[in-house]
Formats: sequence, C-alpha cells, structure tokens
Amino acid sequence: MEQEMKQFACGDVVPGCDATFTCETEDEILGLVGAHAVADHGITEISDELVTAVQARIVELV
Ligand SMILES: [Zn+2]
Repeated sequence: MEQEMKQFACGDVVPGCDATFTCETEDEILGLVGAHAVADHGITEISDELVTAVQARIVELV
C-alpha cells in the first residue's frame, strides 16, 4: 500500500531555518510546525496568516 507523505521546509517561511517536517497529513505538519515555531522562533501565537503560509508551502512527496 502506497503511503503519501507531505513535507514542509520551515526555511521556506523563515529564511535560514533548516528544519523540515514530514508527515502523512497536513494537520500533523501544522501541529509540529506550531510547536517548532513556539520553541525555536519565539512565536507565541499561531496566526491564520502563518497557517496559510505553511499550508501554501506543503509539498507532496511521491
Ligand atoms: Zn523553523
């Protein structure tokens, strides 16, 4: 059974960050990115704009 994976590179939104996240679902990625943004980028509120920016850059791995 083929498993589609999705990937997000934080550096696409935060220049210089080399963190990448690979998950089966967009929701999982958003959860990890949210935690990463708080822990590593000092972001205290995950805004709609940030979620939209992340969603726009999530790519499907073939
Ligand atoms: Zn980052």
